[in-house]
Amino acid sequence: MLSAKCRHLSITLTLQLQTMYFCRIVYLCVLFLNSFIFVPIPVFAEDFPKPSHEMLQQVARLKAKELILIDYHIHLRGGMTAEKAFDWERQSGIKSGVLENTGKDWPLSDNEKLAAFIENAQQFPLLIGIQVNDRDWYKTTDRKLLAKLDYILADTMIMNDETGKPQKLWLENQYEIQDIPVWLERYWRHCQTVVNEPITILANPTYLPPRVEQYYDTFWTEERMSQFLDAGIKNGVAFEIQSPSKFPKRAFIKLALKKGAKLTIGRNNHNDHREELKRSLDLLEELNITTNNLLILPRQPLR
Ligand SMILES: [Zn+2]
Repeated sequence: MLSAKCRHLSITLTLQLQTMYFCRIVYLCVLFLNSFIFVPIPVFAEDFPKPSHEMLQQVARLKAKELILIDYHIHLRGGMTAEKAFDWERQSGIKSGVLENTGKDWPLSDNEKLAAFIENAQQFPLLIGIQVNDRDWYKTTDRKLLAKLDYILADTMIMNDETGKPQKLWLENQYEIQDIPVWLERYWRHCQTVVNEPITILANPTYLPPRVEQYYDTFWTEERMSQFLDAGIKNGVAFEIQSPSKFPKRAFIKLALKKGAKLTIGRNNHNDHREELKRSLDLLEELNITTNNLLILPRQPLR
């Protein structure tokens, strides 16, 4: 009787141990696979910004039309982090693409800094890009690093002067415009240069600095807009509807839609505050923009 009890106990213990070992092996296998497949998902802080009810309703209306929403223009600056961008994606239903400025006088001024930026951002399952500001970026940036990125974004807001010195066109007290038609002609050539670079997104298209903004309609003629869009389409470049900007105006977006150009939305943030992308989302709704009109990029499977 006692021996039968001992044998029963021994069998039970053996089974329990076998189950433990099996569970442990399964657990170790999961851990091993997890290190290849999954990105660690952190616990989110409670005080990250929350989207408003109105925004969530607008996103729901757009998603009912099967729109895939991606904000490709989230700078990791001013307190914005990859973790916050990912939390916002989770809450708002708008995917996040994070980037930072590259170039000689910019935060990512060399390949080492760019590598560290990618390393940091890739802790989260986000699209990762860069904003390029020097016109020779594709010659100076490490190709292996470029291959790790999901997209390259550029705008036309920095133009070299006659001596080759970059001018930030929004800092109007730092440069002269002697002859407006001549300057506009030079700016037009600059726009054509940027749209023909190996970029993915042209941000803030048809931008003009405040000093010459009054010439918008005479400068951005249908012929110029058409030529600009055709160059982008041929080069595989999408055009951004940036939320805090007044550019591009509706005529450009309508022509872009007519020509089949791809569009994107973006916030171009300077901090980590709530950004509801109001103008971008309003235009998507008002102009009946569909997913076919939008640039939908997948994430790099391996970086
Ligand atoms: Zn930007």
